[in-house]
Amino acid sequence: MIRKFSGDTLVVATHNEGKMVEFRAMLGGRVKRLMSAKDMELPEPEETGATFLANATIKAIAGAKHCGLPCLADDSGLCVNALGGNPGIYSARWGGPKKDFVKAMQLVHERMGDAEDKSAAFVAVLVLAWPDGHTEWVEGRVEGTITWPMRGEHGHGYDPIFVPKGEIRTYAEMPMDEKNAYSHRGRALEAMLKKVF
Ligand code: IMP
Repeated sequence: MIRKFSGDTLVVATHNEGKMVEFRAMLGGRVKRLMSAKDMELPEPEETGATFLANATIKAIAGAKHCGLPCLADDSGLCVNALGGNPGIYSARWGGPKKDFVKAMQLVHERMGDAEDKSAAFVAVLVLAWPDGHTEWVEGRVEGTITWPMRGEHGHGYDPIFVPKGEIRTYAEMPMDEKNAYSHRGRALEAMLKKVF
């Protein structure tokens, strides 16, 4: 049975301020108190899972057990079909310790070579965990294509090489609120709101 969120306080297991802004915007009206990983001094567990779901679950359960409160975590990345779904769960790691996404995008471009299939998707999985170990999860996806060279100054990560379906601009060529209106994380959050809140 689906468990509904019924408390006053929700912990969001992210150290990323940009994500926290997105979570606040969507959850602020539904949850009395939203706490961030920084507020709760959450440890950052190692992401040893083989899927977005496994890694988001590791983060959500670790956070819920640490705080004794329901905890929401996400895991996301860019899946390129010509690369067998890579970088996928390794999206952050392809940036290296310096989080150099220009290098990571170059790697995507090099590995794709002259592949005809340019299709890709941004995927976000959200997991809400309770301290007793119960979890609920949802996925959000945005389909699109990889373009080269990089275009645009907004956003972060792989935004300059991703063109969502039905658009001609990359994510990085869109102002933030326009991109967020149909981002993978936004879609996952909407699904979580419907399911659990
Ligand atoms: P994580 O979910 O914080 O582990 O981040 C996964 C990685 O996927 C990020 O470091 C980014 O490189 C990439 N990523 C996730 N969402 C986006 C996005 O909206 N735009 C560009 N890159 C993203």
